Amino acid sequence: MNAVLSSIAKGITVCYSEVFPDQSDDFFHLAYIGKLFLIADSYCMNPDCKCQEAVLKFVQVYPREGKKADSFIIRYKLNGRGYTILERNGFTKREIQAIVMHFTPDDTILKLLNERYEEMKEKAKEILS
Ligand SMILES: [Zn+2]
Repeated sequence: MNAVLSSIAKGITVCYSEVFPDQSDDFFHLAYIGKLFLIADSYCMNPDCKCQEAVLKFVQVYPREGKKADSFIIRYKLNGRGYTILERNGFTKREIQAIVMHFTPDDTILKLLNERYEEMKEKAKEILS
């Protein structure tokens, strides 16, 4: 858990699958008009921080359009009030908007992300105690 402590100290978000690696649902998947995305969710683990955000990295795993996987990163507000694009790479703002809307058509994913945010904060408290 040293990597987690170091991330907390630096204020860097930590990937859920890194902290809970044994879960079957460690990553999210999304099929979107012939494309397949893998979504990695990261969270700020500072127990005192109330940011209520998840950093979501969307990696296009199919089709592979280059040797390197195409991806974009957003900072997603867990109160449902939108997102900020952190890294766009080859994706347009409209594409990102369409993909994100497809990923969160209702509040199912939002609820799940909020649960995972809480789990990460709890884990941080446990590590720091
Ligand atoms: Zn935070």
